[in-house]
Amino acid sequence: METRKKYICADCFGNNPLKKIIKESASSCKCDYCGANAEAYIAADIDSVCASIYATVNHYYEDANVFYSSGYEGYVQEPENTDAVLYNLGLKLPNDETEEVLNYVINFLEDRSSEIWCSTHEFYGNPVDDLTHSWDSFCKIVKTRKRFYFHGGEENSEPWLQTSPQELFEDIKNWFSKFNLFTTIATSDRFFRIRYFEGDKIPTQPSELGPPPSRYATQANRMSPPGISMFYGSHSVETAKRETVAGAGSFIIGEWAVLKEIEVLDLTVLPEKLEIFDPNYEDAIAIAFLHAFVDELRKPINRDKSTAHLDYIPTQVITEFIRYYVKSPAGNQIMGIKYLSAADNSTDASSLVLFACNLDVFDENDTNLKLKREFQDMEGDPWLELVGYEQFDITDEEYTHWSQV
Ligand SMILES: [Zn+2]
Repeated sequence: METRKKYICADCFGNNPLKKIIKESASSCKCDYCGANAEAYIAADIDSVCASIYATVNHYYEDANVFYSSGYEGYVQEPENTDAVLYNLGLKLPNDETEEVLNYVINFLEDRSSEIWCSTHEFYGNPVDDLTHSWDSFCKIVKTRKRFYFHGGEENSEPWLQTSPQELFEDIKNWFSKFNLFTTIATSDRFFRIRYFEGDKIPTQPSELGPPPSRYATQANRMSPPGISMFYGSHSVETAKRETVAGAGSFIIGEWAVLKEIEVLDLTVLPEKLEIFDPNYEDAIAIAFLHAFVDELRKPINRDKSTAHLDYIPTQVITEFIRYYVKSPAGNQIMGIKYLSAADNSTDASSLVLFACNLDVFDENDTNLKLKREFQDMEGDPWLELVGYEQFDITDEEYTHWSQV
C-alpha cells in the first residue's frame, strides 16, 4: 500500500540550511508534524529534507562495515549508531517531543545505507569542531614543528593536517579568489596612525610617524615578526585611537594616503560561516579557516603573556605568504590586509596593515631616499605619504571617560 506523502514545515527544524530547503520547496499549506496551517505553502515533502540530511551524513560518515577488518576481527574505528550520528551533526528538531520526526529520519537513512557508521573525517570532538580543525592543526605545526619552509620536501608528513601545508597554502590562495576578498585603496582614501611621544620634541616627520626602521621594529605583532617593519593604520581617527591609546599621554595622529592605487586583501567581507547541513561542505571548511585566521588577527596584543611571541606566529606566517605569494585577480602584488578592528565596536571600524617599511614613505626632505631604496634593491618609488598630522593630549580623566564609552 502506498502511503501518503508527509509534509513538514521549517519551524520543525532548528538548522538553517534545512529550513531553507523547506522554504524553497514548500508545496503544502499544512505541516503534518506540528499541525501548523497557513494560506501559503509552508511545508515540504519530508523525504526531500531527509535526502539532504542523508547527503550530509554521507559526507562525514560511511557505512561502518567498510571499516570492519576480518584480520583484526573488529572495526578499525569505533562505529556509532544513526541516532548518535545525527546528534553529533547537531540535528535540531524543536517540536519533536514524540520523536516521530527523528524516527522517520533514522529509518530513511537506515533504509538507504546502514545502521552503524564510522566517521570519514578525523573528528576532534564532532564534525562541527572539525571545521576549525585545519586552522588549529596549522597553528600547532608552525608553533611546534616547522615554520619557515613548507614547499617541497617530504609529502604530507604532518600528522595533524588532512592536507599537506603546501596544499593548504594553495587552498588559502584559491579561497581568496573564490570569495573575492580583494579591494583597492585609492589615492583619495585616508587612514590614520597614532604615535605616543614623551618630552618636548614632537615627532612630525614622515619617517617618525610611519613604520619604524627595521632595527627598531623589535616587537612581535600579530602580522609582523620582530625585524620586519609594517605599517599599521585605521580608516577612522576613532578606530586608530581605540587601537593605540592605552592611557593618558601626548600623541600625534598622522593622516596618510597612498601615492598610487594599491590592492589589498579585504578580510572585512568574509562570507558568514556555514552550518553543518549546508551542502557546500568544502566552502564550510574554507570559511571556517578564514574566520579563525581573522579572529586571531583581531585579538588584542597581550605582551605580558609569556607565550605571546609564539601565539602570533601562525598569523605572521600567513601574512608573509599573502605578501609574497598571493596576487590579486588582476595579477598585482598584494600590498596589505584590511580587517575589522577588534578594539572599536562600530561595525565599519576597519584597520589596515600595509606591507610598507620606512623607505616606502615619501619624504621630500630626504634627498637620499632614492639611493637608500636602490641600495636595498627596492623597486619603484615610495608609495606612502603623510598628508597631515595633529597633536593631542589625553588626561587620566579623559582616558577613563573615553575608554568606557
Ligand atoms: Zn511543523
